Amino acid sequence: MEKNEKKLKEDETEKKEEIGIEDIPGVGEATAEKLRESNYTDVMAIAVASPSDMANLTGIGEGAAAKIIAAARKIADVGNFETGDEIYQRRKGVQKLTSGSHNLDTLLGGGLETQAISEFFGEFGSGKTQIMHQLAVTATMPIERGGFNTDVIIIDTENTFRPERIIQMAKAKDLDSDEVLARIRVARAYNSHHQILLGDRAGEIAKEHPARLLIVDSLTSHFRSEYMGRGSLSERQQLLNRHMHDLLRFGTLHNAVIAVTNQVSARPDVFFGDPMAPVGGNIVGHTATFRIYLRKGKAGKRIARLIDSPYLPEGETVLQVSEDGVSDGT
Ligand code: ADP
Ligand code: MG
Repeated sequence: MEKNEKKLKEDETEKKEEIGIEDIPGVGEATAEKLRESNYTDVMAIAVASPSDMANLTGIGEGAAAKIIAAARKIADVGNFETGDEIYQRRKGVQKLTSGSHNLDTLLGGGLETQAISEFFGEFGSGKTQIMHQLAVTATMPIERGGFNTDVIIIDTENTFRPERIIQMAKAKDLDSDEVLARIRVARAYNSHHQILLGDRAGEIAKEHPARLLIVDSLTSHFRSEYMGRGSLSERQQLLNRHMHDLLRFGTLHNAVIAVTNQVSARPDVFFGDPMAPVGGNIVGHTATFRIYLRKGKAGKRIARLIDSPYLPEGETVLQVSEDGVSDGT
């Protein structure tokens, strides 16, 4: 564990040494100093920053910040280009996993998509962890039943994974609960660095045990508690960004569903704008393909609202969390 953390630090240092922030056109010594003081210590951190955050944190004017960010984006390695037909071929492989609720599946255009991140956010007790357990069970079901007949990887950051709950849900689907449990690999993440490492490790595990569902429950809680206040915001956003791109890469490589949970925050210093906004601000919002807002309704019902989807209409639907798991409840 300690060794791993050390290695992670070394990896980060290596990346940072490639190109310095002074190499960004328009960044002189004084500006570089201001950026560093606010934790914009490398080109990638600047490339993924928002101009208003940078202006607030550093005192650099917003216009100048926008120029610096644009220049950083030009020199940052923001990923490889693919041709349209390569992307089309890959997209043709996209499959959809049932959530256990037809209503929710329909809202999502037929289920949770592979090669994308689906983010479930909502207040404590809104049913996020229940849905993650349900997905772990449905993923093991055969294709004809809306499953992927696959193994599952769960990164559990809040120690809320409960095998007993999996057994209940598996039985409700007439599945052999021992078999289902044996197909779910759970790792507890003790802090955000550990979580990032486990995100990396998931790829190695999947080589041996192909898994087409990767769950991170919760995506943001460690980041939120470890990086309090505006001063460390850019560092947090940079690490979250890196982590989410690792997850997305896993989804693409393994044609897997990536399901993550996120809490809403009412703290003015950890979000932007809305008084009840998901944690993680623009980074999580831009990287998650599907964002589903969950809230409690009456009598065990949950209301799921799809927001910001690239090609599906916004909408709301009702589902239920019961002893048997997630269903429409009708
Ligand atoms: P969070 O959004 O904080 O992750 P959870 O997914 O843990 O919330 O949801 C907890 C809720 O799920 C409980 O308040 C309860 O309503 C419901 N729940 C959990 N376990 C069961 C169960 N065995 N039977 C019925 N409902 C359950
Ligand atoms: Mg939870």
